[in-house]
Amino acid sequence: MGIGSRLFLIIFISLGLGIFVSYIIAERDITDTFQKHIINELQNQASLLAEVVDEVDAIGDLNEADSLADRLGSASNSRVTLILSDGRVIGDSNIDTQNINDMDNHINRPEVQDAFLKGSGWSIRYSDTVKQQQMYFAILDNNDVSPNVIRIAVPYVNVDSAIGSLNLSIILIALVAFIVTSIASGIAANYAYRSIADLAYATSKIADADGKARKKDLKALPTERTDEFGNVAQSVSQISEELKSKINLIAKQRDQFGSVLDDLGEGIIVADIDGKITYENEQVSLILNKNELVGKKITDLNIKSLNYLLKRAKKKKRADIEFEIELNDRSTRWVLATINQSKTTKEFILVVHDITQLRRFSSMRRDFISNVSHELRTPVSVIRANSETLVDGALDNKKQSKVFAKAILHNAERLSDMVSSLLDLSRIDYGELKLNIEELPINEHINKAIDSLKNLGKRKNISITCSCSKGKIVLADKNALERILNNLIENAFKYSDYQSTINISTKKVKDYLEISVKDSGRGIPDEEQDFLFDRFYRTAEARATEEKGSGLGLAIVKNLVNNLNGEVGVKNAKPQGSIFWFTLPLKTS
Ligand code: ADP
Repeated sequence: MGIGSRLFLIIFISLGLGIFVSYIIAERDITDTFQKHIINELQNQASLLAEVVDEVDAIGDLNEADSLADRLGSASNSRVTLILSDGRVIGDSNIDTQNINDMDNHINRPEVQDAFLKGSGWSIRYSDTVKQQQMYFAILDNNDVSPNVIRIAVPYVNVDSAIGSLNLSIILIALVAFIVTSIASGIAANYAYRSIADLAYATSKIADADGKARKKDLKALPTERTDEFGNVAQSVSQISEELKSKINLIAKQRDQFGSVLDDLGEGIIVADIDGKITYENEQVSLILNKNELVGKKITDLNIKSLNYLLKRAKKKKRADIEFEIELNDRSTRWVLATINQSKTTKEFILVVHDITQLRRFSSMRRDFISNVSHELRTPVSVIRANSETLVDGALDNKKQSKVFAKAILHNAERLSDMVSSLLDLSRIDYGELKLNIEELPINEHINKAIDSLKNLGKRKNISITCSCSKGKIVLADKNALERILNNLIENAFKYSDYQSTINISTKKVKDYLEISVKDSGRGIPDEEQDFLFDRFYRTAEARATEEKGSGLGLAIVKNLVNNLNGEVGVKNAKPQGSIFWFTLPLKTS
């Protein structure tokens, strides 16, 4: 139902009710007033008649009594009845004399009864005698001993016709009210409708618009009006402003929260109760190697472990699992996924971590322990075997005992080297190695290292040269630099063939100096280059040779170079051999 029809109905029903209630009250009051007025009149007339008649039973006969009633009736323009104290009627202005005796005894008429009791009485009822509604008034005559009754009656139609004309007026008033109501409600509804429609149009435009358009629509609100519509418009404008600032705040917080989530190392997915993804941070697609997850279901990702996880979370609210996924380059990644179901929203929050590195570390730790044990066991077993041989009698043979003692010494040295290398590594790892960074002329240090190791090369007739740019100063720790250079040059000698050459060169790369040690030895297969700087790693070929080694030297080099803020690496030399290089920060002049 439209607002116009509602207003019409409200006004019309209110007016109708008002008119109806007024009608009831008016009818009651008019009837009451009329009755009182007639009773008053009848009482006056009856009193007058009582004075005229004096005593009813004193009238000689029926004829005289009835003719007196007739005369009094025509004089008062009403019906007059003379009733004896026993209720018998002896005269009635509306009844012929010969019929008087046929009339009922009137002792039980309510007005007659009231007259005997209270001196006068009245009643309204339909009269069978005159065949119409009559109003009766009865009064006692002047006989004090046995009073008789004089009754006067008038037709009651007068009152009814008055009420009838009142009804007509009421109908007319109702008709006028209906027309007035229709016009008034039409005007009011139209006014209210236009005001509401304007307001609704302005508010709906505000809801749809944003930015400048919204500002313009806000201005279009009738806020300057002083009525209720003005109040509503002001409230809408205020709410809209508050909402705008709240939305801005929420958007800001969401962006901040989103960037925090994006900066986390973990990938995060939020899914609704059906497993449909509603949020993903940047990391998740990197970790799971899947794109544009929002809108998809977790089960659509085709990762069995995640499906299983979701199933468990539906039962237990929280679950986690570790699984491996294959990447595009056929390598694999280990992922730890934890899922939680929110108690309030019932959403699933899935957090994924890339634990490949962690797994690698833990496997490295395991490998390290087994490597240490393995590497230590060899020299220890050699020392033990040689010592046992000596104890078992070889000591007596001077020549043999020297061989066994040498073997013991050699392996003890190897053991000692290995232990001190391990200690050095752990010192570097725990930051216990104190580096004293100073400006060092690199050529001086390279030449010093060459001089100290030259003898190693002599055995294999290997020549070593340095083609280094002059005057370069690096920022490094003296001892660490010496250790790095010695290690790389030693290796170059160790893994080079007889009569080969080793060349050391330097090159400026941005703010760094790159120092390379190039040999023309056996080189390193590509697939092994990545592991060369790992602890205890030795190439298969190195293991097969007689060359002693622990596989810890390059690990120490890498750690030292990194601590000096440089980088280290290896590549193959042409036509054969390898180039080990490292960088150090150059002194900036
Ligand atoms: P090691 O004590 O075995 O020399 P390093 O850590 O110094 O231990 O070297 C690790 C491995 O790297 C060696 O075992 C060897 O296999 C390889 N390697 C190092 N330097 C060279 C080189 N110049 N040419 C070929 N292989 C090398």
